[in-house]
Amino acid sequence: MNVPVNLLDKPVKQNLLGMTLQDLEVFFTESGEKAFRASQVMKWLHQLLAADFDDMTNISKNLRETLKQIATIDAPEIVFDQTSKDGTRKWVMQLEGGNKIETVYIPESTRGTLCISSQVGCALDCSFCSTARQGFSRNLTAAEIIAQVWMASRLLKQTDQENQNKDEQRITNVVLMGMGEPLLNYDNVLKAVTILMEDNAYGLSKRRVTLSTSGVLPKLDLLGEQSDVALAVSLHAVTDEVRDSLVPINKKYPLKELMASCRRYIQNQKAKSHITFEYVMLNGVNDSRSDALKLVKLLKGIPAKVNLIPFNPFPDSGYDCSPMPVIKEFKDQLMKSGLVATIRKTRGEDIDAACGQLVGKVEDKSRRERKFDQPRYGMN
Ligand code: SAH
Repeated sequence: MNVPVNLLDKPVKQNLLGMTLQDLEVFFTESGEKAFRASQVMKWLHQLLAADFDDMTNISKNLRETLKQIATIDAPEIVFDQTSKDGTRKWVMQLEGGNKIETVYIPESTRGTLCISSQVGCALDCSFCSTARQGFSRNLTAAEIIAQVWMASRLLKQTDQENQNKDEQRITNVVLMGMGEPLLNYDNVLKAVTILMEDNAYGLSKRRVTLSTSGVLPKLDLLGEQSDVALAVSLHAVTDEVRDSLVPINKKYPLKELMASCRRYIQNQKAKSHITFEYVMLNGVNDSRSDALKLVKLLKGIPAKVNLIPFNPFPDSGYDCSPMPVIKEFKDQLMKSGLVATIRKTRGEDIDAACGQLVGKVEDKSRRERKFDQPRYGMN
């Protein structure tokens, strides 16, 4: 195998976790190996969850030794791992360079959903989201996005073995609804989504991988052409005035353009599909009967489901959650008009795992510790 070198003549090790099947094929053929090694290694990584090249027993010892020289299986370090009373489990992972991201597993009777992050922090500055307070640090690499699924799969399996669970905890669905705006990290997110749906890796069907976006329009159109991942759109308001104040990217891509792009997305799908519209319920802001009626009008002609999200409060947010009777009335109004609407159950509240709480106390705590510890250099 040819060992790639950088300018200092040191071997550059490539993290295989973020490579699609096609990337792995290129990696192996460029190294003078047969292309079929790609699917073999991909299965070891993502199905058998191997963390070590030595575990890959159907690969020659020679090749395993070479792989150790030129490649890594590198996942972030787990710095927090807690399970809520309702079974929701949250991990905080520390990336190279010290940034932290969060991943949440939500078990339900018929499925297990993993909520993953696509960026460190977020640049969108939505006024009701606590991640916005953190600002934007950087994009995750494809390997860092997939490593969340890989790591969660390993740790769930480990827990099952330790507790001798009869029903194993499985990740049947993945949602890109953690930290960050996936469409502002398009290339890496597309790679990650491809790996999630790849038969030699996680093999999830397109209905089981959902990308949630506030509507970064040129990228949304591109996504419709290049992928058929399920789409969730963070709508949250029915007029530009209100949406401008909640989701500032609306000033750049207003509602009319967003809805037109959603229609194109559906038209591009090969199989019959729908878009989930997320709508956070904010007391006195977007929860009136007239808002519900306008929402029905706005979604006319789009195969849609509406997911009403009770607002998860955080200190000094300036918003309150709509009272439950108001949320129920809003839902009934939508249903009466023929829309499918659900109210999202809040999960993992006791461990700050609910939507918009994903920065949470770990980051605050580490900031406080740093203050009394020693200064960090190279950070503002
Ligand atoms: N940037 C993507 C994904 C991130 S958040 C997007 O905008 O879709 C996933 C969902 O949680 C979004 O619909 C987001 O608007 C919502 N959310 C954020 N903060 C919230 C809060 N405090 N309470 C309820 N939902 C919130």
